[in-house]
Amino acid sequence: MTQQGQIQMDCPKCASKGKVTVHQSINVSLDPGLREKLFNGEINVLHCAECGHDAFISIPLLYHDMDRKFMVQFFPFSLIEEKGFFGPIQQGRGDPEDGGHPAENQTRL
Ligand SMILES: [Zn+2]
Repeated sequence: MTQQGQIQMDCPKCASKGKVTVHQSINVSLDPGLREKLFNGEINVLHCAECGHDAFISIPLLYHDMDRKFMVQFFPFSLIEEKGFFGPIQQGRGDPEDGGHPAENQTRL
């Protein structure tokens, strides 16, 4: 499923107000046009009508390609650097000395 919404934000360069469509997940099997937009750098980008500046919006984005059985979750660096971001993932690994098998915990698509 493709999830999107509109947000208002100021251009970081000239501070004029603009509206931008942001995607939290895109499904390129259902919306093939989004794949091209993503690789052209047109997804989650504020294009300022006043000064022409392109500002990338740092939000997590899920890329889902059902035909190729391919799924990628994008996280902005600013979010990854936050304390505790990897906490839930590391807790879920299990401890081999307690009889856990980390390799078997990998999610299959
Ligand atoms: Zn601008």
